[in-house]
Amino acid sequence: MTSATDVERERPAPARPAVFWGHVVTVPVLAVLLVAWQTATAGPWWPADGQAFPTGAAVALAVGVVLVVGGELWPVLGSRTVDPSGVAWSTTFAFAVLLFAGLLPAVALLAGASVLSGVLARKAAYRWVFNAGQYSLSLLAAWGVLVVFDRDARPSELWSPADLSDLGVVALAAAAYFVVNELLVTFAVSALSGTSLLDDLRSVLYFELVANGAQLGLAPLVAVVMEHAPALTALGVLPVLAIHRQAVAERESRHAATHDDLTQLANRKHFLTLAESAMDLAARSDQSLALLVVDLDRFKEVNDVLGHQAGDRTIVEVGRRLRHAVRDGDVVARLGGDEFAVLVPAITSLDDALGVAQRVVAELERPFEVEGRLVDLGGSVGVALLPQHAGDFEALFSRADAAMFAAKRDGGGIRVYGPELDSGATGRVGLLGSLRRAIEAGDLVVEYQPKIDMRTGATDGVEALVRWRTTDGVLVPPDDFVPLAEQSGLMPRLTASVLEQALAQCAAWQQAGLRVPVAVNVSLRDVLDARFAVGVAERLVRYGVLGPMLTLEITERVLAEDMLRVQATLEEVSGLGVRVSLDDFGTGWSSLVLLRRLPVAEVKLDRSFVAQVARSRSDAAIVRAVIDLAHELDLVVVAEGVEDAATWSALAAMGCDTAQGWHIARSLPAPAATAWVRERARDRHGARQVGDRTERPQPVPGQTGDGAGLAGR
Ligand code: C2E
Ligand code: CA
Ligand code: CA
Repeated sequence: MTSATDVERERPAPARPAVFWGHVVTVPVLAVLLVAWQTATAGPWWPADGQAFPTGAAVALAVGVVLVVGGELWPVLGSRTVDPSGVAWSTTFAFAVLLFAGLLPAVALLAGASVLSGVLARKAAYRWVFNAGQYSLSLLAAWGVLVVFDRDARPSELWSPADLSDLGVVALAAAAYFVVNELLVTFAVSALSGTSLLDDLRSVLYFELVANGAQLGLAPLVAVVMEHAPALTALGVLPVLAIHRQAVAERESRHAATHDDLTQLANRKHFLTLAESAMDLAARSDQSLALLVVDLDRFKEVNDVLGHQAGDRTIVEVGRRLRHAVRDGDVVARLGGDEFAVLVPAITSLDDALGVAQRVVAELERPFEVEGRLVDLGGSVGVALLPQHAGDFEALFSRADAAMFAAKRDGGGIRVYGPELDSGATGRVGLLGSLRRAIEAGDLVVEYQPKIDMRTGATDGVEALVRWRTTDGVLVPPDDFVPLAEQSGLMPRLTASVLEQALAQCAAWQQAGLRVPVAVNVSLRDVLDARFAVGVAERLVRYGVLGPMLTLEITERVLAEDMLRVQATLEEVSGLGVRVSLDDFGTGWSSLVLLRRLPVAEVKLDRSFVAQVARSRSDAAIVRAVIDLAHELDLVVVAEGVEDAATWSALAAMGCDTAQGWHIARSLPAPAATAWVRERARDRHGARQVGDRTERPQPVPGQTGDGAGLAGR
């Protein structure tokens, strides 16, 4: 296993393409050359010796310096939730200085300020060098327009617009500034991300036009004030600030519509848009693209046990880690709940995608600190590639989702889509829909797995286990759809369907003269439902079954939930005479003392302990202790998952009451179960020794159910 730090070291530095570097170098070099050439060729710049520089102009320029530098150091768009694309309030004042005092002061100011802010913000050197060059070239473009129309100012020859024709020229100059600035920046961005220049321009144009248009539009006013009332220049800050707030608010609201509140990652809708343009790009460049669907493991427990706030904080941290796990240019989104997606554009092999998936899993496997505790989560990642696995995004998504679901079923980790995942009802969306239909159509059937009394060998009852065979004949294991029903709110209907069938069968056995108590599994959803007990009472009456003939099995883990609610429901059902059994006992670490407070009649030792009882001394010790304690509390102990004779004997020696498992019988469809119960009763009538397992029937393959059923001879 690679540790998180190994993975970090392996993390490739994002490769910046040659076009990008060419651009980043050319811009400042060109700027230096052009500014030098302008300065050299364009007549005298400074007031001749002896000619005093007007005090007013000096004041105005000083204020301009303060505002430009201040604006660069504190860009109004520095708000962390938006992308600070370099729009700063300094634009207005730098452009005003250009109009008022000419190219050289303006370039010196803006380039100087951007270098200063870049250095202070510890940006990489190439970035502030590029920014300085980009600003200079934009100012040069505007300056070119002013020169053509003979409105070029210089410190020796100050200028401010006076009439409409002046304004027209200023507008043209501003347009030149804007166009050059946008092109230079956007070209750099698209060269870096490999996206199309036009698409990138389109996506920012509106916002940039509003922000820059207003800023540049104010500049002529500021220039006029510089000339006529220099001390008031600073007041220009106020409208600029207002414009900025407006632009920021707009950008933030657009951000909010496209991003998830909690994590600030792209939301589902935005992810789709981004994915579609990435797909276009991949198609044009003959490259592949990978989609990773990521689902947290065990997140529900954090939410349920530590509360929603803790859950939210965990999600924020997950978002942070995912961003950290991917490279520049990969897109991370939160699809909702504890589900995320990563888009890896432009990959050359599956390995590229797997690398990202491995980093994602490694990040999620590091423990999370929630409310001062360390919590282990982990993640399941499904990977699908375009065009290898799907031709459009919808298909790609459902395949990655199916792969994720398969990974989850295998206990987490990474799974790449393969055609075997297509069979039948895979993928949650498809599965959920067909499950709902199956419940409604009565396609869920129940099989019965016998339990026997270890002392007398008599049938102690059966456990009803739900089975779902889809219309195309695929048998979906309950571990695949029971949790799904639980998450989606289908659970009450599933339980109702199983309960009805089990009680009907119990009544049928009664009528046939067989006394076979039934056990039905109920889930957390059921016991949290205040009307659950009423539903049970009503069905007992309807089928004419007495309370003690029904056992409800709830998993021990339910006790970690809303204890009061659970207790109330359990008390109601046991008031009906119904027995309550704690399933999967030993896995949830609830204290046995707690059991005294609950109306529990039996505990079912979890398979995981039972399986090892004949082989592992520590498991045997646990099982023995649980049996003894349970007996102290007058509880019946059932061992589930008894798979062989050795396990049977070990349990019998420890005084376990009841056994269930493949050694005795697999789950059987109702008719086979009936035959089994009859057969068993007949066998016991013969003079067989109680508990003598040597003559136990051997497996007979060919039954439906778990696979091979065991039928008595
Ligand atoms: P569970 O309640 O622990 O059910 C026992 C599971 O162990 C069953 O799996 C059963 O077929 C299997 N089993 C029985 N004997 C052996 C054995 O000797 N060895 C091994 N390895 N396994 C054995 P199944 O039917 O796949 O059910 C899995 C789980 O699905 C159940 O675990 C239960 O939690 C859930 N489930 C099944 N039916 C229902 C239902 O109607 N309602 C609810 N809420 N949950 C159900
Ligand atoms: Ca059970
Ligand atoms: Ca169990």
